[in-house]
This record gives sequence, structure tokens and C-alpha cells, in this order.
Amino acid sequence: MLEIIAIAILYTRLKKKLEKNGRPTGLAWLGPGLWIGGELAGAALGVAFAVMQNRQPGPEVYLFAIVGAIVGAVVAYLIVSSQGPMSFECPSCGDEFTHRPNPQGKSRCPHCGASLRVMGGMVHVVRMGKKD
Ligand SMILES: [Zn+2]
Repeated sequence: MLEIIAIAILYTRLKKKLEKNGRPTGLAWLGPGLWIGGELAGAALGVAFAVMQNRQPGPEVYLFAIVGAIVGAVVAYLIVSSQGPMSFECPSCGDEFTHRPNPQGKSRCPHCGASLRVMGGMVHVVRMGKKD
């Protein structure tokens, strides 16, 4: 139960990070995916470790699984963090701009001043800017 809560928190954090940079949020699933994948890989490694030493796998398998899950979560976090703010073409003036949204999720084109909102990797014009 505690683990499900931790995975949900991880997913939510990654999703918010991606939204902040105007990126599609699908990549947030790397969190739960690498957590569970890391956990299974860790458990398998723990069992293999015990077998190599000619003994029954014991409680240390849980330790391997937890370490694997943590490694998976850290890798997912690093991958998501490496995705910087996305560049878009302003639909109002055609200029390239980097999405740096305010707390309402809007940003402004530095060229024409259009008010823009980026959702799911698509640019939406809230208010058109001045034409040259
Ligand atoms: Zn513009």
C-alpha cells in the first residue's frame, strides 16, 4: 500500500515537471515503469546472488528489490529532468520562443507579445500579439 502511494507521488511529480516545461506528460509513466522494472530486476539479482552462494534466497531479496526500485525511480527522474523547456513557433508571428509559463500556465511571445498557453505539446493562442 505504501509503495502504491510512493509510486503515485512519483508519477504526479514527474507529470507536473513535464507540464511546467510545456511537454507531453506521457513520459511521466517512466516513473512507475522503471520503479516496478527496477524492483523486479533487483529481486531477480537478489535470488541469483543467493543461488550463486548455494543457499536459499532469504530476506535480502527484499533489500535488492528496494534498491532496484530506488535506482529505477532515480533514473526516471533524471530522464524527465533532462527534458528542458520546449521551444515552439509562435502561432501569432511565427517566431521561435521558449515556453516559460507563469503559475497560470501561460507564457508570452517575446517577439509579438501574444499571450500563449501550451497544453499537451500544442500551442494555443490566448490573445494575439501585434502584427509587424
Ligand atoms: Zn509571437
